[in-house]
Amino acid sequence: MTPGPTAAGGARTGSPPVTGRPSDTGSPLDIGRRAAAVPPKTDFPLLDELAKAFEDLAARHPNLVATRRLGRSRDGQPINLHVIGRGQGRLAHLVVGGVHPNEPIGSWTALHLAEQLIQDPAMRQQLDASWGIIPCVDPDGYRLNEGWLKNPADRLHYAEHFFRPAPDDQVEWTFPFHYKRAHFDAMMPETRALKEAIDLMRPDLYVALHNSELGGVYYYLSRAEPELYPALHAIPQALGIPLDEGEPESGHLVALAPAIFAETSLEDAYDWMESLGLDPCPPGSGGASSGQYASRAHGALSLIAELPYWRDARASDTRLTQEAYADLLERTGQRTADLGAVLTQAADEARDLLDWTTPLAHGARAFAQMMGDAAGTARARGRQPEARRPATAAERFGCEETVRMFQLRYGGMMLRALGEGLAGSPDPAALAAVADRLERHCEGWRAAAAADDASEPIPIADLVGVQYGAILAAAALLAGRLAP
Ligand SMILES: [Zn+2]
Repeated sequence: MTPGPTAAGGARTGSPPVTGRPSDTGSPLDIGRRAAAVPPKTDFPLLDELAKAFEDLAARHPNLVATRRLGRSRDGQPINLHVIGRGQGRLAHLVVGGVHPNEPIGSWTALHLAEQLIQDPAMRQQLDASWGIIPCVDPDGYRLNEGWLKNPADRLHYAEHFFRPAPDDQVEWTFPFHYKRAHFDAMMPETRALKEAIDLMRPDLYVALHNSELGGVYYYLSRAEPELYPALHAIPQALGIPLDEGEPESGHLVALAPAIFAETSLEDAYDWMESLGLDPCPPGSGGASSGQYASRAHGALSLIAELPYWRDARASDTRLTQEAYADLLERTGQRTADLGAVLTQAADEARDLLDWTTPLAHGARAFAQMMGDAAGTARARGRQPEARRPATAAERFGCEETVRMFQLRYGGMMLRALGEGLAGSPDPAALAAVADRLERHCEGWRAAAAADDASEPIPIADLVGVQYGAILAAAALLAGRLAP
């Protein structure tokens, strides 16, 4: 959910099976079976394919699905809310895809959830809710990822076509926020559309569909719900996907259970950064998260299921290494700072050579800057007394893997921004020279990543199954139908 997982992890054993309590209206929900029954997928849907699939569902089931236009993106793309079974249940839930448009597992999850709710009146009745689904709340950003969606298993291809919006352009992190020195209220049309949907649905369960990149599964919850934890552990385990029990995404996060973190407030994050002596609101910061808004404004239980595309056995190796955790943070922090310096230099050299206001160029430059900030955070954590202990192999892998991910993603984004700037550049030859110099760095990063790559892609249907199963489990909990 925060920029990139630093998590390593390990598989958990001994979790109980997942079933729904037999209800007075029929058979058990059998969430484990449902999670394992997602049809095979080899790619992710393009924006138009996703929109058409939802339009077709709405057209075929006009009495069950109501579609509402929430607004349009900055580029004029429609943003729709599809409500299934309006007024039919005691509860209301909202599920939102594309909050980070580089995270498309939720596209399939949103569609699969909609199809199952429509096809299965008994399940709908048992969950006792109406369901709002926004297939993609950032259509512009999603389009900028379409270059890799049909070939998602190849990590280098993915990095070459990857786009993540700058923090102040992310729908997820642009809800109003005012705390101490931080003041953010620059809501984008997409964020206003999402806020309208949240206020309209007043959700009991709010699910922003995120995913990570490599490692294992982990979750965020806006409040402690111990009855839910066994199900959240058992669903990925049954599908052979490890839990991620290593490094959290940020040092201030509190674990409610293994691989389940409290979705702490942005105020907490601010205070934590301040306590480390770091700037809690550097230029370009965004605002509060959609989950924080939904839980505070309407008392929603906010659930996030973070899922990787690739697994690597090293992410589960909890043996101790010879390296101190503090040294690991310092070493990988330095490599992150080096990356930031290379990317910032390219941006500085091309300062007057392209339009930096496009989402791609703005994002590329923001992440160049953020690499420097991330290095500072890692080093500040390394100076904390609790960092004076041996690192585990999983932590070492997780920290090194995060550097690799940043090199591939943000090197790729900067190269793409430079390349796309060529057409309108006042000095294309000078811009091409900047791109050539950066390309030599990127070649080195790609070669190093390929040489050390022991990852394997996880079947997409299994990832969708985990996210779908987690949503059903949370909805069953709120309906009083989750087995203890
Ligand atoms: Zn995310």
